[in-house]
Amino acid sequence: MSQPIVSVQSCPSYSQDGVAAAVRQCFDDVGGLERFVPSGARVFCKVNLLVPAAPEQAVTTHPEIVRAVVREIRRVGGIPVVGDNPAVAKPRTALRKAGILAVLEEEGVEVADLSDVIVLDNPDGVVCQSFEVSRAVVEADVLLNLPKLKTHSLTYMTVALKNLFGLIPGTHKAQWHLKAQPSGRFVGLLADLYGAVYRHFGQGTRILHLCDGIVAMEGDGPGPGGTPRYLGAVLASADAAALDRVACELAGLDPDRLVLLKEVAGRALGEGDLDRIRWLGTPASSWSGVRFKPASGSFVGSAVSRWVQRRPWLQDLVRDHPGLEPSRCSSCRRCHEICPVGVISLAGSPVKPSFELSKCIRCYCCAEVCPEGAIRKQAPRLAWLAGAGPFSG
Ligand code: SF4
Ligand code: SF4
Repeated sequence: MSQPIVSVQSCPSYSQDGVAAAVRQCFDDVGGLERFVPSGARVFCKVNLLVPAAPEQAVTTHPEIVRAVVREIRRVGGIPVVGDNPAVAKPRTALRKAGILAVLEEEGVEVADLSDVIVLDNPDGVVCQSFEVSRAVVEADVLLNLPKLKTHSLTYMTVALKNLFGLIPGTHKAQWHLKAQPSGRFVGLLADLYGAVYRHFGQGTRILHLCDGIVAMEGDGPGPGGTPRYLGAVLASADAAALDRVACELAGLDPDRLVLLKEVAGRALGEGDLDRIRWLGTPASSWSGVRFKPASGSFVGSAVSRWVQRRPWLQDLVRDHPGLEPSRCSSCRRCHEICPVGVISLAGSPVKPSFELSKCIRCYCCAEVCPEGAIRKQAPRLAWLAGAGPFSG
């Protein structure tokens, strides 16, 4: 594998001119957008549209990033289409709240209809060999992945690799958590999906990743429970794993906990070793001293977590679990609707959720979709046992 390039551009704000310059430089650094987008190519821009959230909540890709990218695609003769599958709510509702719909209307860009699905195969898949994903993505000529840089309650971070889970339609995503039980297998499933996408788009030659890290997210992400955190960076690479590794470095997080990155790199689908990545643009020293607060407990994939998962009677004592801050709950019922195992019941007036923890699979879909950030990962009852290990943040 040749040494992948990751372009890192300092970008202090979402001013239209500043973002446009950073995005253009990112594309130039990775060899020029025209290298990936032939004239007339249909380019699917996969934003992060997890739930309906305003730009300042830092849950979704910022609209000015989208504006700059679609203008660049047109400059080289491509045809941009934009979309994503929110976990809850209609895509247009989420696009509107994120401020992206207004930009697409101003720029005259098509919003992709993602409702129709098609099967995408990965014969090398370890957990799963085929996925139902949105047809509009698969039928595009080029995939331009536009993640937001965020910490994540389940996978530690979500950047380029994890963002592609959004290719699976809306509420189906929660069901995939169920298919990936025990939860250590979820990372394998995400790597299988990435492998399917990589294979489909010319062994990765027709995919490019550009990450919005200007105002990123720390803490209990990736939903509204996380905390916006200024980072001032735009990143791009043709290698999703390399981009994730550099994003981790910028945020001052621990690369050993990026188990998805390790899994993908282990399958030779990307580069996870910082020493083998060509870092172009603003040097790493500009972000030295940055230390993002991780989500409280990223449990998945560790040896200890696998050991505990084989002993269900231990889980309630030593594993984190979802918990409610009742005063923040607006009784919207989204958590109840998304839970793939139906262990959230609603009671009271106004209704509040409660969790049957012995059957909870710790997917944290409920926390991701909660618009009020009312569901948080809670420390295990035997926190002293978990304290120094992978159970806590
Ligand atoms: S209660 Fe929350 S964390 Fe537990 S299975 Fe349901 S959605 Fe997942
Ligand atoms: S906890 Fe959150 S998602 Fe669940 S009902 Fe309350 S506000 Fe809605």
